[in-house]
Amino acid sequence: MTVEILSVGTEILLGNIVNTNAAYLSEKCASLGLSCYNQSVVGDNEKRLYDAARLALSRADIVILSGGLGPTKDDLTKEVTAKVFGRELYEDPGVKSTIAGYFQQMQSVQVTENNWKQALVPEGATIVENHNGTAPGLILEGKIDGEDKTAILLPGPPNELKPMFEESIAPYLRKLQPESIYSRMVKLCGIGESKAEDMIADFMEDQTNPTIAPYAKTGEVHLRVTAKAENEEEAGVLMKPMIEELYRRFGALIYTEDEDVELEDAVAAILKEKKMTVATAESCTGGNLAGRLVNVPGISDVFKEGYITYSDEAKQKLLGVREETLKEYGAVSRETALEMAEGAARAAGADVAVSVTGIAGPDGGTKEKPVGLVYIACRVKDNMRAEEYHFNGNREKNREYTVVRALTLLREELLKPE
Ligand code: ATP
Repeated sequence: MTVEILSVGTEILLGNIVNTNAAYLSEKCASLGLSCYNQSVVGDNEKRLYDAARLALSRADIVILSGGLGPTKDDLTKEVTAKVFGRELYEDPGVKSTIAGYFQQMQSVQVTENNWKQALVPEGATIVENHNGTAPGLILEGKIDGEDKTAILLPGPPNELKPMFEESIAPYLRKLQPESIYSRMVKLCGIGESKAEDMIADFMEDQTNPTIAPYAKTGEVHLRVTAKAENEEEAGVLMKPMIEELYRRFGALIYTEDEDVELEDAVAAILKEKKMTVATAESCTGGNLAGRLVNVPGISDVFKEGYITYSDEAKQKLLGVREETLKEYGAVSRETALEMAEGAARAAGADVAVSVTGIAGPDGGTKEKPVGLVYIACRVKDNMRAEEYHFNGNREKNREYTVVRALTLLREELLKPE
């Protein structure tokens, strides 16, 4: 079943307001299993609105119109949609008394003659109560050019539209389209987007139910597996073989299949399971790595200390990095990264430490050590590992990539058999 969203309002066309209703409605319809192929915006103009509504209703089974249900002259959605369906408007006594009650409650607000315009309803329409305003929503079902079509009219203000959609429209749509969309997010770290895409090319070519779509996130790849089914259990059965195959192909690169779990959550879970404590030592990321770990509620069980050692002096004073190391290899070097990790583990008395040192840019790079060069070291008990990375983003991106790579390296080391 197809749906189309038609947002009504000249202020949207002028860019005075952002069309958040369309984003909200599209997301909701997709999760209800409805296919949305078109969205459009039209101003408060009778002819153009008529044409846009007619076009949308010629393409989709259901058209959701938002805005233009208010009391003023330029609110035309109801009148024009009724015309498209060939219906007259009548004054609905129920809606009229609801409006009267609303104004009685809001004692300070005067009822004006045009407020009663909102009590006009197209013949045969289903009236949808508005608990947050005066304009009711409307559902019009009927034949257009011999085909069954539905128009759903919703008020423009998001604080009226959203509750109305949740309370009344979603249940109505669910009845029309019993199959909903369910999805799992298989999240990978330590692999590039093109490699990951290459490894699922066969799935991508031959998609039916479930489908798979890759999304690149800084330093990570997320694969959304989506199934259309009548309930979650049935969707789970449909998705299981594909998810099992993803585990076969990507193995430990998968850190979760739960949308709400972030990389730091996965790392913290391993630390907790292994009953290991961690310390961080950061230069170019300036505490962002510790910040990511602290995103995890309850991290105090495993996170001991975080050192921000931006200067050479701080690296020596807090982490015991040797002066000779800094002189011979420089602050951005494998050797310094290793001594930072070792020093952090020692100073904090932690089982595990991870350190980062690099050149985030835009300045500070040389031919030998360009902007984006980063060393990350990890110490798990007595095992040490340091890696060199070359990032090519701006300062912000390089620092973001560094944090994700540090979490990825830490995870890899933690997963190694002891
Ligand atoms: P009202 O009875 O308040 O006039 P209405 O149904 O006639 O409601 P509009 O007049 O079109 O709706 O819009 C009222 C307000 O709702 C706008 O000023 C804007 O703040 C918000 N709004 C309208 N359309 C959208 C949209 N597509 N996305 C986000 N907000 C919107």
